[in-house]
Amino acid sequence: MKAPCYQCGEPAVLDGMCTECYDKEHPLIEVKTPLTLLACKKCGSVKIPGGWKKLSFAAADSDDLWPHQLDILLDTEVKPLVHGLELTIEEEKRLDRVLHVLLRVLGQSHEDLPPHEEKYDVEVRFSYGTCDTCGMKSGGYYEATLQIRADGRQITDEEEDDIVRIVTEMTVAQYETNEKAFVTKITSDKYGMNFQMGSNHLCRSIADVLEARYLAQRKQNYKLIGQDKGGKEKFRTTILIRLHRFGIGDFVRVLDNPCQVMAMGKGGLTYFDLVKRQRFTMNPKSSKWRTLEYLAAKNDRREYMITTRVYGQPVQLMDSETFEITELDESLFDDDIESGAKVYGLIIDEVLYLLPQE
Ligand SMILES: [Zn+2]
Ligand SMILES: [Zn+2]
Repeated sequence: MKAPCYQCGEPAVLDGMCTECYDKEHPLIEVKTPLTLLACKKCGSVKIPGGWKKLSFAAADSDDLWPHQLDILLDTEVKPLVHGLELTIEEEKRLDRVLHVLLRVLGQSHEDLPPHEEKYDVEVRFSYGTCDTCGMKSGGYYEATLQIRADGRQITDEEEDDIVRIVTEMTVAQYETNEKAFVTKITSDKYGMNFQMGSNHLCRSIADVLEARYLAQRKQNYKLIGQDKGGKEKFRTTILIRLHRFGIGDFVRVLDNPCQVMAMGKGGLTYFDLVKRQRFTMNPKSSKWRTLEYLAAKNDRREYMITTRVYGQPVQLMDSETFEITELDESLFDDDIESGAKVYGLIIDEVLYLLPQE
């Protein structure tokens, strides 16, 4: 015979109480009502203790922000009192700035008791402001400038697209965790591109990527712009990334041999030596690198058509523009090349060098 529950007289199961009375005495969560949800009117961020919580990039793009905002708010406002809860949120009524939701919570108030459901009516009152990020952004705040220049030439459209893509992707990647991850201003002129950025850290990490990708030169300057409230000196950083005169496809000289640039990246510069007929990769720190000089642009190459191809004899080619006929040793060509095929060459000091097949 079980003792009766001291609250209602039913048979007791735990701590002198029946299941129902035990559950009532030990709620699954704690939540207040009404709650205030302060959101940024520009980006939808939600004010939480200690700062603003950004919506994930995908959520910030959706038509209805409130479910995402409510998730953030409830994450900080709902205090679970036991482990292993399942929470569902149902919209009851939504007016302009007031939302009534029903929280259904499923869980066990004690591991010896079966799961049960609890319901909580919560009123959420929306109010709007401007988050720190949007405030800084609209105020033109920036900590760093990233300048992109190219040595002795303009930045190509390809490079410009590539750089804008990298800046955008990296800004988005830091968006949720770095409140200053924004670009205040982008300008582009005949000298190059300039990005004003809210965050020093963002600027440095983008510069790291561009430096490695283009094997570029990098210069960093700091300018004292004042002091913060605590008297600490504040600096503004300018990072200059200078791209080489040559890009992929252009011609350079390495150890005095004409070469075509094939690739650039973290591993170094990959080029095809037009004399040795071989690919090499060199590191900017290598001694070979010091012999590197610009030779000609990609567009300086000439197009040829193979006119005669007889095994055991020099290959005859015709310049597509001047129709001039030249001969080259057949060992320079792939075995399967046939007459009528198009090839490219570069003339340097009156010598025609065959370019590697694309
Ligand atoms: Zn009871
Ligand atoms: Zn905002």
